[in-house]
Amino acid sequence: MLGLMQDWPLLCHRILDHAARHHGAREVVTRSVEGPVHRTNYGEIRARALKVAQLLERYGIREGQRVATLAWTTWRHMEVWYGAAGIGAVYHTVNPRLFPDQITYIVNHAEDRLVFADVTFVALLEQLQDKLPCVEGFIILTDRAHMPQTSLRNAQAYEDWLAQADGDFEWAALDERAAAGMCYTSGTTGNPKGVVYTHRSNVLHAMAVNVPDMVGLSSRDRVLPAVPMFHANGWSIPFSAPLAGAALVLPGMKMDGESIYDLLENERVTFTDGVPTVWQMLLAHMGQSGKRLSHLKRIAIGGAALPPAMARTFQIDYGIDVMQAWGMTEMSPIGALCTAKPETAALDGEERVALQEKAGIAPFTVEMKITGDDGQEMPWDGTSRGNLKVRGPAVSSAYFKGAGGDILDPDGFFDTGDVATIDANGYMQISDRSKDIIKSGGEWISSIDIENLAMAHPGIREAAVIGIAHPKWDERPLLIVVPAEDRAPGKTEILEFLAGRIAKWWMPDDVVFVEEIPHTATGKIHKTVLRQQFAGYSLAP
Ligand code: ADP
Repeated sequence: MLGLMQDWPLLCHRILDHAARHHGAREVVTRSVEGPVHRTNYGEIRARALKVAQLLERYGIREGQRVATLAWTTWRHMEVWYGAAGIGAVYHTVNPRLFPDQITYIVNHAEDRLVFADVTFVALLEQLQDKLPCVEGFIILTDRAHMPQTSLRNAQAYEDWLAQADGDFEWAALDERAAAGMCYTSGTTGNPKGVVYTHRSNVLHAMAVNVPDMVGLSSRDRVLPAVPMFHANGWSIPFSAPLAGAALVLPGMKMDGESIYDLLENERVTFTDGVPTVWQMLLAHMGQSGKRLSHLKRIAIGGAALPPAMARTFQIDYGIDVMQAWGMTEMSPIGALCTAKPETAALDGEERVALQEKAGIAPFTVEMKITGDDGQEMPWDGTSRGNLKVRGPAVSSAYFKGAGGDILDPDGFFDTGDVATIDANGYMQISDRSKDIIKSGGEWISSIDIENLAMAHPGIREAAVIGIAHPKWDERPLLIVVPAEDRAPGKTEILEFLAGRIAKWWMPDDVVFVEEIPHTATGKIHKTVLRQQFAGYSLAP
């Protein structure tokens, strides 16, 4: 027997409709790419997104066809997401920090018909356009006054383009399983692979992360996503914030410590999220200037391991609640968030900081398990380490055009490529990516644990650990260190600092000093490049 409830498909534009109707005047503030701070609201964004939809349809973009964005986090970028998805087309965010060859590959692979780009990417696209035969035209996200001279074919200023529509338009009636958005994984190994979100997955994910024990946004929040929209579905903020009716403060292209600080403080931001590298810049700025944040209450830090020293500074020195976040492009992206349960709610001070070494608990919609190499499930005891696998309605079932083949195990779980423990309270902790974990004498050493400890040393700005081939132990850890500008510790000092804090057999066999550690286009330590750099490195037997 079927139930007797209405069929109301979970479509992305319903989120914007809700925001416009119930929170229409709620501010969306942007540090515009042109410079000045721009103010709009959900009502206006919806009206303009409808114009985008109307114009895309008039142009001939059909259901399932892709339009690309090479753009910073701005109100215009949001309008394009909702406008494209609202006719059943697919917004495809391209990470402009990728190598030009990767951008060419991605745009061609996705067969993007139009590209919406910020003025900052016009020169890059001019170089690439001959290699992008599928792209019929470029719409530059600016007004006529700021439109650059360009050789891009069929280039138009977004505001001029938008002026051609009256917005008298209705969203398409779509199947909730229809594709809404696309984001390629950065492809640190092999070609990038396309993750395709559905309307349903975006809506369910936004709802699932908006409960109190997750991100839990409310209409009283003012939210600054310090995660670009081209990273992992913008961490869902373009959906979860309007769903809650929360105000948005969008940083545009300026991600330096001072610019982010100014927006957080002047715009009275209460919640923010981003990767550790962004917060390193913010903390450096606050440390140097002696400034504090008077409105910010909560910060989610993820995308890469959260250094405990950073958690401590935010939590204890500045009194801002820190939540480690874990996820991936394939998960829409949030897979876990470290918030308090009754079992952990009493933790305070240093104990609370220590809890933040864990990636956290899964939201409803994410099923999790850890398995051994034999595929057998391992216990949730906080010490058994296994391959982390996930299943749920906002987790990928396959990559675009079948890249990578079948990606699910027989039970429908997706292997995240991460190695983790899960404790009895359900808190998952990432040990490493499976390809980064160091296998020494048949045991596993977590590179992340050693990096986190090393970065607690005041003379270390950044640390990375990789496995180096060893004649007796298979692999041994090598610690690579960028010293702090004002204080460069020696090798002995660093090893003495680690001794006693980690097991003896986890101690790095050597420490090398470098000026810079390579990062991927999504801000993670680029271990593949480090392994190439240190390929010939030999450790004393
Ligand atoms: P990329 O395109 O760089 O692969 P993703 O955001 O999809 O971008 O990367 C997901 C991966 O990032 C995870 O599988 C994990 O290895 C890493 N990651 C994310 N959050 C954390 C975290 N809190 N701690 C450690 N690693 C993390």
